[in-house]
Amino acid sequence: MNNSEYTNDNEECCGNGCANCVLNIQPKKSKQAIKAGKVNILTEYTNFCLLDKVRHSNAEINAWELHFKSSILCGGHKTTTAENFILDIEPGYHLMLRRHMPNVQNEVGIENKRKYLLRPYSPYWWDMQQLEFKILVNFKFNGPMTNFLRHIQVGDEAEFRGPIGQFEYRADAKGNQILFIITQGVAVAPVRPIIENILDSEEDLTRIVHLACYEDIQHIYFRKELYDFKKFWNYKCDIYLAHELCDRKECIENAGCMETCTKFIEKLKYKESVHPFRLTTKELEAKFNLLGEDTIEHVSVVIAGTGKFQNTFKDLLTSEHCGLNDRNVHLL
Ligand SMILES: Cc1cc2nc3c(=O)[nH]c(=O)nc-3n(C[C@H](O)[C@H](O)[C@H](O)COP(=O)(O)OP(=O)(O)OC[C@H]3O[C@@H](n4cnc5c(N)ncnc54)[C@H](O)[C@@H]3O)c2cc1C
Repeated sequence: MNNSEYTNDNEECCGNGCANCVLNIQPKKSKQAIKAGKVNILTEYTNFCLLDKVRHSNAEINAWELHFKSSILCGGHKTTTAENFILDIEPGYHLMLRRHMPNVQNEVGIENKRKYLLRPYSPYWWDMQQLEFKILVNFKFNGPMTNFLRHIQVGDEAEFRGPIGQFEYRADAKGNQILFIITQGVAVAPVRPIIENILDSEEDLTRIVHLACYEDIQHIYFRKELYDFKKFWNYKCDIYLAHELCDRKECIENAGCMETCTKFIEKLKYKESVHPFRLTTKELEAKFNLLGEDTIEHVSVVIAGTGKFQNTFKDLLTSEHCGLNDRNVHLL
């Protein structure tokens, strides 16, 4: 654990190397709040209580959906000031979760002066009037915030602030725009509201090409939602599984299921486009080059995942092989 992981009041950075670091980007002002003559409840760190905590799917024990509601509307806390607030989160933006750290001394008597533990989380759903939001959390890591969220109980409180990000999106009524979305694991959460916004709008004819990367079939987060999005003419999704492996001898020898593996195929839904291998830069380049040169100027890309994942694909897309302009690649 490095020193940058805990911060004081003036240092809001979590040390995670976020593409959109809170040190450079202030939480976005809410136009909706200004219009309504209200305040976005997330502008300052404020308490939310946990309303619900459910497993994301029966197949996976580490992914949980956590549903928070502003403490000013929770149970006994209910006050009339709630009507002064809305909760506004932009699609693709994240919130900072803050935990006060106890003032402890280590074995040589040096006091821990770092007051807060901070980590970003990306809401995939929110209700502006009810001051509620949901996040999808992966408990696989044994880090300090994971341990807090693993043990948090319904009714417990946690402090959040935001929304933080830079993604700006313009609807396209002409149908020229293509939005490539590349996601890694749980980082599919911030793109879900981006996709929903586009598909819900009859005036937006943007075509979405979603390349979703996961560990294996059990870790396809929002599998149902991605499948349902496919009913829209302007959403296409390819899912890539880096570590899909059944117990067949050929697949074990291949260190992964093959696309022809019957055990793998049996697990797929009708017309679900799932590949039992990792999305490589070669694969992405091939997909991208199908677009044709005159289309490139209408292409934007959103990449959500770890810094390494984001930079690998950004470097390829902005290289001469793909020729995309830097400003059209958005890292969440
Ligand atoms: C912009 C942004 C949005 C995020 N949104 C979410 C979200 O919605 N849901 C969620 O569960 N997490 C999200 N994360 C990750 C989250 O902020 C924490 O890093 C994570 O919960 C682990 O925190 P920790 O304190 O338990 O462990 P840490 O001390 O941060 O990490 C423990 C170990 O696990 C590794 N690790 C942590 N997270 C990941 C990861 N996602 N992939 C690979 N290795 C990892 C770290 O490198 C470290 O080695 C987001 C991260 C960023 C940068």
